[in-house]
Amino acid sequence: MKETEQKAIRWRRENLSKEELAAAVIDALRWEYPGAACTLDYNQAWKLLVSVRLAAQCTDARVNVVVEDLYARFPDVHSLACADVDEIEKIVKPCGLGHSKARDISACMKMLESQYGGCVPDDFDELLKLPGVGRKSANLIMGDVFGKPAIVTDTHCIRLVNRMGLVDGIKEPKKVEMALWKIVPPEEGSDFCHRLVYHGRDVCTARTKPYCDRCCVSDLCAKNGVQE
Ligand code: SF4
Repeated sequence: MKETEQKAIRWRRENLSKEELAAAVIDALRWEYPGAACTLDYNQAWKLLVSVRLAAQCTDARVNVVVEDLYARFPDVHSLACADVDEIEKIVKPCGLGHSKARDISACMKMLESQYGGCVPDDFDELLKLPGVGRKSANLIMGDVFGKPAIVTDTHCIRLVNRMGLVDGIKEPKKVEMALWKIVPPEEGSDFCHRLVYHGRDVCTARTKPYCDRCCVSDLCAKNGVQE
């Protein structure tokens, strides 16, 4: 790219407000990944609760395989709530952290049964009361299951919004979430975060140098071509 073009791009980027930058990035990602969605398989809300717990430090692809065995053995909230924790652990072990995940899933299903009539609550603060459910999981449930505003600050989201300059040097998930709420339109948040996951896996990668030369937001990104 010629130096004059680079200067023009930098000038444009530096003169955008954070809201304008967010809007432009959202547009570009929507165009690039029109069908982006959650990559955890589920057909009922409680299953997404289980999967999102299993997904900690594990790939979504592996979780999607493991839950098939789990649901073959325990097909509903009641059977999982009654299940022996050791038996759950044996099945979910391939996802790592087997004991704590099995314990949380068991406690979460018990609480769903005893306090919510076996249903997943559609309230963010109620979701946070469930064992093993943090802000990231609660936001995912709110956005994907209930179609409500959500910002899911997973590792891809945090890395990418920092690189792009949507936030400045913020790594703590809750702080990133709060910063994004200020600049991302609420109705865009859930899809935007799913698209960040796609982009983070394919282009703006963590383990290799990001592929800025084939990035759809390269003319907007603060880190384009800059070594970290
Ligand atoms: S330009 Fe590079 S650093 Fe910026 S979002 Fe794209 S791939 Fe990531």
